Amino acid sequence: MRYLAPAAAIAAALAAPAPLAAQQAAPLDAAALRDAALEDELAWEITEGITTEIGPRLAGTEVEAKARRWSVDKLTSLGFSNVRIEPFDMPVWVRGEERGAIVDPFPQQLYLTALGNSGATPAGGLVGEVAYFPTLADLEAAPEGSLKGRIAFVSHAMTRTQDGSSYGYFGRVRRAGPNLAARKGAAAIVIRSIGTDSHRNPHTGSTNFDEGVKPIPAAALAIPDAEQLERVLKRGKPVRMKLLLTPRQVGIRQSGNVIAEVPGSDPSAGIVLVACHLDSWDLGTGAFDDAAGCGIVAAAAKRVMDAGRPRRTIRILWAGAEEVGIFGGRAYFEAHRGERHDAAGESDFGADRIWRVQTGLAGTAQPVAARLAAALAPLGIAAGSGRAGGGADVAAIVRAGAPGIDLAQDGTRYFDLHHTPDDTLDKIDRVQLRQNVAAWTATLAIVANAPEEIRQNPAAQ
Ligand SMILES: [Zn+2]
Repeated sequence: MRYLAPAAAIAAALAAPAPLAAQQAAPLDAAALRDAALEDELAWEITEGITTEIGPRLAGTEVEAKARRWSVDKLTSLGFSNVRIEPFDMPVWVRGEERGAIVDPFPQQLYLTALGNSGATPAGGLVGEVAYFPTLADLEAAPEGSLKGRIAFVSHAMTRTQDGSSYGYFGRVRRAGPNLAARKGAAAIVIRSIGTDSHRNPHTGSTNFDEGVKPIPAAALAIPDAEQLERVLKRGKPVRMKLLLTPRQVGIRQSGNVIAEVPGSDPSAGIVLVACHLDSWDLGTGAFDDAAGCGIVAAAAKRVMDAGRPRRTIRILWAGAEEVGIFGGRAYFEAHRGERHDAAGESDFGADRIWRVQTGLAGTAQPVAARLAAALAPLGIAAGSGRAGGGADVAAIVRAGAPGIDLAQDGTRYFDLHHTPDDTLDKIDRVQLRQNVAAWTATLAIVANAPEEIRQNPAAQ
């Protein structure tokens, strides 16, 4: 534990004097704002609105453009300043038909879905013998050319964890497996879905092929179907599968970031950036991933805005095209790297309760970190000892020197829903959603209004 300040010091820190550098800034009572946010309705209203009025919003498509227009209207009507779209171009992949089946020795249908950037099978599908690899390392060890004409099947042992840490490691099966199988001559690849549920819902997600490697058809099997295929393989007879996938690359299209601001009172201070992503995968309505995140950060910023002008500008980034390669985060970084960012964070891990806070605040800003820890503790949030990375869409800004703020959400059931048709509004727990808003409200009130220097290396920025 990092913040073992005595109770009296925490109380004194919470009652910090008004900002030194910003006479016009209204003193923000973080504890009162936090408690009021436990009654929040706005985060739900935004999440419900995006998922109902837009639905699935694959990056670079017309429906994502519609989501941006919806967002500009919404953020403008809420009273934010400088609401705008910052467009950028990106390559777009769209799903086609998708079917799979075991042909021999026990014919039956398998539930699967194409991975983003998957190649297509011939129009009539393809049939091949299954080459089974229990892990990605087993596929890596397969000799070059040994998969000629075969369908590689890679499994893994992803498990349920509170912090989602299993995703980084086992997610490589999806991210790297198809490229590897293609290089070894496979006709196609199927993987066990990167997920933790037991439903016949396959989990999509992006994969990538190296320059010069021809994309092969690549699909994720629903977890019960992957387990079924493993049982069939264990009978020891050759197993043949049929696969039909007809996705296609449609070329360069426009996506964009939606930005809105709460202008700060101190022109010498920097920006506090809070992000989510507006695009979603195409199978569900992207409630958990990530309409809820957009609802949470906007509701928190609105509460701080309504309470009085903060010292630092709070900038909301509803990023486009995160799922398919963090194109929005990259475009934001290119456009705004020259501006001074004092802190950056993102809400993009569902809508279940926040359990840990970690920051990258400077050593000299430890009183700010202590105020933050004290304000979040009543919500059941403990200060961790790690350093914040900030989240996918703000990671580049954090790597460039802005302190990250991580409010870690409980990911225990996140990978039951992630990138499946089951990522829908009914999965959002409204009580936990409000706890998220309360935590971000207190965080923005404290960080955006802190009189202290909070950057690690102010001279470098
Ligand atoms: Zn996401």
